[in-house]
Amino acid sequence: MKKALQTVKFKEMEKKIFEVTLITERLCEICDRIIDTKEKVMKTIHISDRRDYDNLLMRAKIYDRAEVDIENNKIYFHTHDYPGDVHPSCIEKL
Ligand SMILES: [Zn+2]
Repeated sequence: MKKALQTVKFKEMEKKIFEVTLITERLCEICDRIIDTKEKVMKTIHISDRRDYDNLLMRAKIYDRAEVDIENNKIYFHTHDYPGDVHPSCIEKL
């Protein structure tokens, strides 16, 4: 189950290794809604002490949101991008 990073305590993540995945939502230039989503594994991080945890929280601030899947040792950073693309149905409306 994914939880918001900010709600996950250090004790839950301590001494664990997490795989960090970046999820990029590509947004339509016209309607601002999602065209598609890309996932990319960035790296793995080891939360060995509180400083690693604090660094992770700091890092998460540059993304739209951050989630943790404690059971599966995964962290997801969400971001968005305007690839200069639009939905075919949005073009038809122009
Ligand atoms: Zn659109």
